[in-house]
Order: sequence, then C-alpha cells, then structure tokens
Amino acid sequence: MRLFVPAAAKSSVDPARIARTRPTNECAQCGESIFMPEWSEWLNPACARHLWQCEACGYSFETTVRFAAA
Ligand SMILES: [Zn+2]
Repeated sequence: MRLFVPAAAKSSVDPARIARTRPTNECAQCGESIFMPEWSEWLNPACARHLWQCEACGYSFETTVRFAAA
C-alpha cells in the first residue's frame, strides 16, 4: 500500500485515523472482499481517495471518502 499525503494535509493527517477510517470493500465484479486499498491519496484533510484492486479478478475501482470537519 502506498500512501500519498499532500503537503498541505500533512499537519492534520494522523496515520491512526487513516487506519480507523479505512473502508473495506467488496469487488463490484466478483464479490471478493478487499481489505487494503492499492493506493490512498488525501485530496485535502477532509477527503481521501482510495484505489482498490481485486486480487481475485484484477478489477479496480476508486472510492472517495469524506470526513466531517473536526
Ligand atoms: Zn474481483
């Protein structure tokens, strides 16, 4: 898993928070559970984008997660 945190978001991103809020997804194509995003990117302190890739069938998709302002 690679994690890219924009410089502007670094001060307010807590790695433990990422772990807590990390979603688990099911592959939209075969239904296999995907526990770890292939790629996570913080667009800003309140919004993260995850790229998921299914190990079973290779299908990939993105999700965007928004957090309420702290
Ligand atoms: Zn799949």
